[in-house]
Amino acid sequence: MTVWNDFLSARMADKIAADNERVLTPMARDGLYAEVAGQRLLNLAGNDYLALGARRDWQHDFAQHIAAPEAYWSSSSSQLLTGHSPSHQQVEQTLARLFGREAALTFASGYQMNFGLLNALADNHTLILADKLVHASMVDGLLIGSAKFLRYRHNDMAHLHALLSQHHSAYERILIVTESIFSMDGDVADLRQLVAYKREFANVALYVDEAHAIGVRGATGLGCAEEQDCLADIDFLVGTFGKALHSVGGYVVCSDLTRQYLINHMRPLIFSTGLPPINMAWTDYVLQRLKDLQAARTHLQHLSQRLIEHIHTHFGDCVSQSHIVPVLCGSNAAALARARALRQHGMLVMAVRPPTVPKNQARLRISLNAGLSVEQLQHLMACL
Ligand SMILES: *Cc1c(COP(=O)(O)O)cnc(C)c1O
Repeated sequence: MTVWNDFLSARMADKIAADNERVLTPMARDGLYAEVAGQRLLNLAGNDYLALGARRDWQHDFAQHIAAPEAYWSSSSSQLLTGHSPSHQQVEQTLARLFGREAALTFASGYQMNFGLLNALADNHTLILADKLVHASMVDGLLIGSAKFLRYRHNDMAHLHALLSQHHSAYERILIVTESIFSMDGDVADLRQLVAYKREFANVALYVDEAHAIGVRGATGLGCAEEQDCLADIDFLVGTFGKALHSVGGYVVCSDLTRQYLINHMRPLIFSTGLPPINMAWTDYVLQRLKDLQAARTHLQHLSQRLIEHIHTHFGDCVSQSHIVPVLCGSNAAALARARALRQHGMLVMAVRPPTVPKNQARLRISLNAGLSVEQLQHLMACL
């Protein structure tokens, strides 16, 4: 084993020397709070954007009315064998109805969804144009797939247009890949502009990941595509249940043909156990009630605007246009020191470091949720 231990410890020494070691911290969560090493901290690091984790009434109501076929804690099989339960079918139907689309399909996680979809959808006659800052799950799917892919500068529509003009005739198909709210900067893609490009070039389709926007944006909580009034124009509209929806898994809303194709071609869907029916039933419970959470969405938007203005005034530029608000610190050590200081004031905020963000752009990533009061926000701003 010594050769292996030497290899592992040398690579860990590099991480530690760069202030870039990651550790798993046990945390018990309790509504808006997380308990870390005996200290109760206001949780500003999670993705429970609508604070549904604190909705004991919903959790209680759900548990009371659960039907026998939903009370299964495992699907015990891939969805292609015996793992596609009535709850899975129900979630697909609810998604299709809410989004006004023919079909939907669910996946065990958002990572699996992006990774599997992107390499199933494209071949070597396809060009993928992806925003420079898309999530690792999309990058990994592109790296393993056979399509050629290029990155355009983050949210730089002129750069994207130049790449489209230059390449559109050399490929049979082009897929533009973006997030709507970006996970580390909290800024928002111009989906309407992307739709306009799709109309300009006949062989272009759009793939948009709404992981951080589902539940949070739009008049009924369907995300930025609803807010920007282009739901029907996104060919592959994906998102996750693990953030604002306080559940687990990923989804795509799409055409019947796309769904049929994915069931036959998407390896992580075919070769992995489906989500437990109990989780799917909870997801459906939340989806059915999304439209009723407009007050929470408005409150979250209000908190976000106040924090963004505060960062702008005291720290310079703030790119965020959402509830995800970065505070750039530069070095890893500086970001870690800031996060430690906030902990001493009772707040849990994570330092995000490379490779999650570019080198020398280590930052605090503050993620707000609709359960926070204005007083709690003011306390955070004072401590910053
Ligand atoms: C969190 C996230 C994912 C991954 O979703 P999981 O369900 O956690 O695997 C995918 N895309 C984006 C943009 C995300 O932020």
